[in-house]
Amino acid sequence: MGDLAALQDKAQELANWVKERDHFGVLYNYDCDGITAGSIVSLALERAGKQYKSLALKQIYSDTIDEIKQLGDNLIFVDFGSGQLDLLEKHFGQNFIVIDHHQPSSHPHPFHLNPMLFGFDGGTEISASGTSFLFAQQLGDNADLASLAVVGAVGDMQDQKGKLMGLNREILLQATETGVVSKKIDLRLYGRISRPLISFLCYSTSPILPQLTGSEENCSRFLSELDIELKKAGDWQSYERLLPEERRKLSSALILHLHKYNVPEWKIKELIGEVYSLEKEYKRSPLHDAKEFSTLCNACGRHGNSDIARRVCMGDREEYLEKAMALLVQHRTELRNGIQLMQSQGVDEWDSFYFFDAEDKIKDSIIGIVAGMMYGSGNIPPNKPIIAFSRPNEAEIKASGRGTSDLVRKGLNIGNAFKAVCAELGAGAEGGGHAPAAGCKFPVEKKEAFLKLLDKKFTADFAQVSG
Ligand code: C5P
Repeated sequence: MGDLAALQDKAQELANWVKERDHFGVLYNYDCDGITAGSIVSLALERAGKQYKSLALKQIYSDTIDEIKQLGDNLIFVDFGSGQLDLLEKHFGQNFIVIDHHQPSSHPHPFHLNPMLFGFDGGTEISASGTSFLFAQQLGDNADLASLAVVGAVGDMQDQKGKLMGLNREILLQATETGVVSKKIDLRLYGRISRPLISFLCYSTSPILPQLTGSEENCSRFLSELDIELKKAGDWQSYERLLPEERRKLSSALILHLHKYNVPEWKIKELIGEVYSLEKEYKRSPLHDAKEFSTLCNACGRHGNSDIARRVCMGDREEYLEKAMALLVQHRTELRNGIQLMQSQGVDEWDSFYFFDAEDKIKDSIIGIVAGMMYGSGNIPPNKPIIAFSRPNEAEIKASGRGTSDLVRKGLNIGNAFKAVCAELGAGAEGGGHAPAAGCKFPVEKKEAFLKLLDKKFTADFAQVSG
């Protein structure tokens, strides 16, 4: 059980640190949770009358320090930093604060806001955007920013069990009370607002809909058998635009369909759950749905344009939203190509994990997402984690790992394992993350050593719990 009052006191200490200073550098992680967290901190600074410059980074690696130094004297690290406090102190003395939810290192730092230090699980109970929201609340009246915290938590897949829980839930309830977010139980397939009905079913990967995922023809037949029209007044219908009774009819038919194909009950349960709407957004905009908003942020971030998403989060609904929508199209194409490559090439099986090396054919920024989608969609059995490699440049390998919550219960902690293996590999190897999802990079020539050490580490971790 976490100590919220102590966490809020720490947030207050960080807010006081900010109040006494000006001219900040805000460094934020380039994915959805990092972007929404960075936007919450940026908006809170702006509202407090502070000057700042911001920069998105894939990670704080030793070779990014010079770039960070250019940004300002007072640095705010958002959605990373907890695992690198010693590195940060070495380069920036005490002139920085960290707002993060990843596994913290044991190095003490006075201005370190991380819910994991207060008994909360940073993987399931609160994200970086939620933690940033707690900080923003101490800096001023920023209640409306709870909507971005909900988008960040959903982007970090903290709603995987069908709803937001823990501190995320507290923040969600605040958001609904303020009227910026509403919640309802509904179909949780992606694209409720922006996808035409056929694509809504055809592109569903979590869960996979047997005979429907991947077949436009079958989806079209399925909908026409339910008497659901694909177009209304010349426009393709989206799920959100259906009449309430049509939505109910479609949901029930999908559940029956999954039963008919003997899909396990826990997979069927993924289909229905809480969905979150951003009430201040135009109803037909992808920003109206927290899941679609989060994918838009990821699309920008993972393709080198986090700043575009940050501007959208901070309120731009014209030029930058248009640019973000174009990046979303590119993101989808690259994910699809990545999955096709993995499917056609197949994965290798090691004792304690599945392995796939995409070399330079999948970007290092999306390799983790592709691996997670392959895994979550049932293409790879969930009995071991998956480790996937990509090449950000000729000299380095970027590794991403993904596992299930069931494996985490059985002793899997990919973040810790990557950290430990990188420490053993020595110079040039750095990494970390969460128990079910983590990343790292290391020199190309250490590939075999990395795999062998990782296999040994996972095997030992599983044995420790089962024994
Ligand atoms: O890059 P990828 O999507 O695989 O990252 C998964 C998780 O691991 C993210 O939460 C990311 O912030 C974290 N990570 C990390 N250190 C790294 C790379 C990734 O903590 N060097």
